[in-house]
Amino acid sequence: SSKNQGGNQVSFFTSQLTQHIHERLMLETALSRSIDLGAFELFLQPKMHAQSLEVTGCEALIRWFKDDGTMISPAVFIPIAESTRLIIGLGKWVIEEACRILQGWVAQGRVVPMAINVSVVQLLEEDFVEFVLACLRKHQVPADMLELEITESTLIDNFDKVVAVLTEVRQNGLRIAMDDFGTGYSSLSNLNRLPIDVIKADKSFVQGVPNEAAITQLIGSIGEVLGVELVAEGVETREQLEWLRQNGFDTLQGFYFSKPIPAHRFEKLFLFKDE
Ligand code: C2E
Ligand code: MG
Ligand code: MG
Ligand code: MG
Repeated sequence: SSKNQGGNQVSFFTSQLTQHIHERLMLETALSRSIDLGAFELFLQPKMHAQSLEVTGCEALIRWFKDDGTMISPAVFIPIAESTRLIIGLGKWVIEEACRILQGWVAQGRVVPMAINVSVVQLLEEDFVEFVLACLRKHQVPADMLELEITESTLIDNFDKVVAVLTEVRQNGLRIAMDDFGTGYSSLSNLNRLPIDVIKADKSFVQGVPNEAAITQLIGSIGEVLGVELVAEGVETREQLEWLRQNGFDTLQGFYFSKPIPAHRFEKLFLFKDE
């Protein structure tokens, strides 16, 4: 009967929910143990100058490897880390590890800036700025070699506080990028108040180029008005590359050039390839 079906449906959803909560709990427990176990690694993806196609920077993207060697995507565990505040410790590990890698490059006279992704949860911590600056000092890395990427859509709730923190970070010489730009519906007046050096057009728009290029073009215009560096993420084809470099984009990033790869491979392929 329909009543029975309804009942089955409820228990179906209940068991799905239970499983979801169970998986989340397992993930949370594993996550909190994994920092100490060295189960995280920063992969690096190059950013290319749109005209010369030389490597002018890179982005660090975290990878989590389980005991059996399988990888869990940051798209899965970063949101959980954010909602459980585990992102605070994990984020500190990312900052420290980025500085450690950069220290090696500086020592070898290779100046390629690195961008790291930072969650708003981290930014709102009392000691955030002090921690970043202490890390840079400890590893003797110039502040302008580190760029912080903040996802546009996460800013809105704590806008004034975030602006204050980013302003302080920027006064200390670090660069600030708005990530996934175009997905956050920042009002134009807010945009004007953001202390930023870079906007990164979200890959969902970039991948529409050249056939559906209206939003990417609009983002290009906004970047031009704001006078910031324009980056396109998610560049996968030669056609996208051509369109983007003809439409004011300064910097390109995407699988067309390279996937995110382990740091030692990045160094070999892009930094010290002549050595
Ligand atoms: P994101 O910062 O916007 O990074 C871009 C994502 O697009 C990365 O996914 C990257 O691997 C992927 N990507 C790059 N080029 C292409 C392309 O040509 N085509 C396609 N389809 N994808 C491309 P990933 O590594 O899975 O990271 C997902 C998100 O997780 C990141 O998005 C970022 O928001 C977050 N994340 C990654 N690492 C960290 C971290 O250390 N801390 C924090 N707080 N978040 C992180
Ligand atoms: Mg990013
Ligand atoms: Mg992005
Ligand atoms: Mg993204």
